Amino acid sequence: MAAKVTCQHCGKEIGLFGSLVGFNRQTGRCSACETQVRAIFTRFRQAFLAACADGLITPDEWGHLAGMIAQENLQLDEALAFVRGDALAFLERSLTIAYADGMITADEARDIQRLQKTLHIPDAMADPIIGRASHLRRVSAIREGKLPTTQPSVHLDTDEICHLETTATYRKVMAKAVVPVAGRLIATSKQLHFVSPDGGWVIKFKSIMRVEQEVTGVYLELSTKRGNGKYVVPDPLFTEAMITTLVRIDRRQVLTVSDEEAASRHIPHPVKIAVWQRDQGKCVQCSATSYLEYDHIIPHSKGGANTVGNVQLLCRKCNLAKSNLI
Ligand SMILES: [Zn+2]
Ligand SMILES: [Zn+2]
Repeated sequence: MAAKVTCQHCGKEIGLFGSLVGFNRQTGRCSACETQVRAIFTRFRQAFLAACADGLITPDEWGHLAGMIAQENLQLDEALAFVRGDALAFLERSLTIAYADGMITADEARDIQRLQKTLHIPDAMADPIIGRASHLRRVSAIREGKLPTTQPSVHLDTDEICHLETTATYRKVMAKAVVPVAGRLIATSKQLHFVSPDGGWVIKFKSIMRVEQEVTGVYLELSTKRGNGKYVVPDPLFTEAMITTLVRIDRRQVLTVSDEEAASRHIPHPVKIAVWQRDQGKCVQCSATSYLEYDHIIPHSKGGANTVGNVQLLCRKCNLAKSNLI
């Protein structure tokens, strides 16, 4: 004889035949309980979205959410699985909000990781966002002047510290064509080296007039002809941050943004939330929902204000494409 089946939630015995209809083998609940639990999770989702609306789940809000589930003898894990899509969108939004000033502090990076744990988002799903947060943190640390060191594959002078070595393809502009020159870009405490099979060249920091990040690489505007132009690199953001910072250090420029500068660039929190809602968490140009950034429609440098009317959501790609046009 088969063992009796009981509902895991209400404890009622379930008949072997007719009443097994609607019994959920995965959750071990009877059909009446399943209906009830779905209604509870739907209410939980509404409360979760309401708590997220201002961009921050406070400990009080969190206590209320967890209480809703505990009170019904349900597992928080199952409730959080029910709102996983919303939780992922909230994680993405938290990162976008933190990065609105162009920097991710160590605290902000930690907060994003903590949020993933709190919301029980599995690593495999959160990895693109967490990975991006760590990458932005590494880049921010460079802009703060904390430069990592690495072992170069070529011989350098003893007083030269290597900070970056990356594959790079120089786009050599000839009269009738652009010829790619494959090589490696090495950034040291003293200068930049471009090493290619037929030799390459050295770029002194004082000859670098402008460093621009592009979608596929960095553009170096030099006061000399040799080496001036575009280098295609795998990580344009990291490479640009490194070269810009080394140039600033070489010119003995302050690395930290002044309070005044930071204040004028600061987008008020209510504006960030309103813009996110208006643009529905999507890039206004291509509708992408990841790699989102706040963009000033009229750039800050041209007097654009930090208002809802002048701020929009753009994905990284569309934002870079736009800034390369200005
Ligand atoms: Zn039941
Ligand atoms: Zn886009």
